[in-house]
Amino acid sequence: MKFEPKWIAWEITRRCNLRCVHCRSSSEAAVSGHPDFSFDEACRVLDDIAGTANPVIVLTGGEPLIREDVFDIARYGASKGLRMCLATNGTLVTDGICAAIKDSGIKIVSLSIDGPTAEIHDNFREHKGAFDGTIQAAGLFKKHGIEFIINSSFTKRNQAEIPAVYELVKKLGPTAWYMFMIVPTGRGLDIMDELISKEDYEKILNWHYDMEKNESDILVRPTCAPHYYRIVLQRAKTDGEKMKQRTLKFSTGGSKGCLAGQLICLIDVDGRVLPCSYFHVPAGNIREQPFREIWDNSALFKDMRDFKGYKGRCGRCEFLKVCGGCRARAYSMCGDYMEEEPFCGYQPTKLNKH
Ligand code: SF4
Ligand code: SF4
Repeated sequence: MKFEPKWIAWEITRRCNLRCVHCRSSSEAAVSGHPDFSFDEACRVLDDIAGTANPVIVLTGGEPLIREDVFDIARYGASKGLRMCLATNGTLVTDGICAAIKDSGIKIVSLSIDGPTAEIHDNFREHKGAFDGTIQAAGLFKKHGIEFIINSSFTKRNQAEIPAVYELVKKLGPTAWYMFMIVPTGRGLDIMDELISKEDYEKILNWHYDMEKNESDILVRPTCAPHYYRIVLQRAKTDGEKMKQRTLKFSTGGSKGCLAGQLICLIDVDGRVLPCSYFHVPAGNIREQPFREIWDNSALFKDMRDFKGYKGRCGRCEFLKVCGGCRARAYSMCGDYMEEEPFCGYQPTKLNKH
């Protein structure tokens, strides 16, 4: 596997108009002391990255539409040949914003829907009106011919709604639907009790397998559920069929389960380069070092690419190279990012390690 940056999320602000239960960054308390990148600094970051790689850049937050110069940043990145994308909660989208999205060269936008009704979604997002705003944004993207993805996050609080969310998403007509069982981190640590159990996680991934087999309108894949790649192989074998997985668009995944520090990373608002949005151990800081130096030489990224160093069940698992387990979950639950994925119930057949 060649470890090249293919997908970089970039937190261009930590400010947000919502306060979601699972969010890693949007609490107002987290914002003080974490100012936005200036526009000049943002251009320097894009120059740095474009000079060494050709990744997708996802402008994220917080809520990136809060920044008045978000489209100037997107336009600058696009002028450097970078494929610019935008992740928004949808509540600030208008006809004018859609026109600016198109004009700035943004290729695709992602939205979040976490429940099939306003009541459930707004409860998750802790913001009355968030659901209506997001549904309206999807309609506006359709009207303006803007390609969009829908991401859905689940905990115990809304896990029963997964099939209903899927049905709703299909009606909205996105390019893709990526469901996500939340990873505990930051404010997310407060909701340890809300995490979906590993037994239910397994059932949900099996439900997804059956759904994906029959889904041809939209691209689907569970995000940050690395053991889905194990389940696909296991199910295809037991069911005696070939599962043809389609190539995803603007996704963090696709070729393998966890790609953190291998093909993807996150740059946070303080310039820290992290393996992904849920893994808060920095590999370096883009304000102090060139991006390429961090990507190639950081000890953290080298560890994460050394599959032989993985521990516990992941370390001796025959699916390690297609899955890898979630390093962020291992870190938050065990304090060691090389440990086994705590939300996978699989017992590897090999006994020769650890
Ligand atoms: S470490 Fe976990 S949350 Fe991060 S990319 Fe890998 S699977 Fe996703
Ligand atoms: S034990 Fe680890 S590598 Fe194996 S399937 Fe589970 S999470 Fe993946």
